[in-house]
Amino acid sequence: MPNIAFVNGRFLPLARATVSVEDRGFQFGDGVYELLRTYGGEIFQIEAHLERLKNSAESIGLDMPYAPGRWKSMLESLNRKCGYPSAKLYIQITRGNAPRNHPFPERTRPTVVMTARRLVPPPRKLYERGASVITVPDLRWGRCDLKTINLLPNVMARQKAKTEGANEALFVRGGRVTEGSSSNVFGVIKGRICTTPTGPGILPGVTRVLVLRIAKSSGLSVSETELPLRRLISADEVFLSGTTVEVLPVVRIDGRRIGNGKPGRITRSIAESFRLMAGG
Ligand code: PMP
Repeated sequence: MPNIAFVNGRFLPLARATVSVEDRGFQFGDGVYELLRTYGGEIFQIEAHLERLKNSAESIGLDMPYAPGRWKSMLESLNRKCGYPSAKLYIQITRGNAPRNHPFPERTRPTVVMTARRLVPPPRKLYERGASVITVPDLRWGRCDLKTINLLPNVMARQKAKTEGANEALFVRGGRVTEGSSSNVFGVIKGRICTTPTGPGILPGVTRVLVLRIAKSSGLSVSETELPLRRLISADEVFLSGTTVEVLPVVRIDGRRIGNGKPGRITRSIAESFRLMAGG
């Protein structure tokens, strides 16, 4: 079975998986999600993703329908069934089916959907040349630390990037860069690795934590402080982190060249350490 889904306790081919039109995820975007990936058939950072899922769910008043051990075994089965050496495993939990009405429904079971697909990594050339990004105003709500399925601002931002021939859009709030539409952002400024601190304004990326760990263990100094856009544009190096992009050098922001316009030495070294650690 290649592309598989899991819907409320049942595994089935992805093409046959359905949920109700009354699902609150469909009606209100009332739900949370996670995206995990595998390297060589092994699920990467499963605990960190499940911990973040639990935090997102509980913060919107949604009880996790399964215990952590059960999530793990379900994800492992999903991964085994799809059989891809590199897979992306998606989990979505919504507040379930109910007639459309804003308050939480009573006695409704959450809808749990998981899907497994082949992971197609971004092309190698992008890493060799470096990415171009644009900036957009950060119009999102005040709890960007929760991984909710309300992604319209992220979708709009990414579409704008695509239309303008860029690879990612960076959100800017009050002159400061928060994060990308699906990535965290780092600057290398005078040898120091700088990134926006965690808090309600950004998603605490699983990859972000690993990048900071790699940087520290390589003897680099790390600074989690606000990143004014003008400071980022004049950084020596800029890069993105995320489950799918891993560590991706950025060489242009709004058409302006970063550093010498090529992926920087420190970025390349962190990207290499990340790949070795992940086994990719
Ligand atoms: N920020 C946003 C808005 C994202 O969607 C993602 C991708 N999940 C990230 C950051 C990076 O997080 P992670 O490293 O856990 O994939």
